[in-house]
Amino acid sequence: MSKYICLMAKYKCECSDDIVDAPNVKIRFVDGEVRHDIKCPCGKYMDLHNPKSGVPSFRSNRYGQVL
Ligand SMILES: [Zn+2]
Repeated sequence: MSKYICLMAKYKCECSDDIVDAPNVKIRFVDGEVRHDIKCPCGKYMDLHNPKSGVPSFRSNRYGQVL
């Protein structure tokens, strides 16, 4: 029986190719943008790195209504 831990996410900074596992990262708005409250040692906010799941896609019909 497999178990998925949804709270675990992977983060990556543009300064390196290292990918960091970080659970329970808070999300905050900084200058109108969503930022994950995790910083790289270089001082920048790290970006969410999740190659398996992209942006959630909503199916919509020809009238633009979300089904
Ligand atoms: Zn960095």
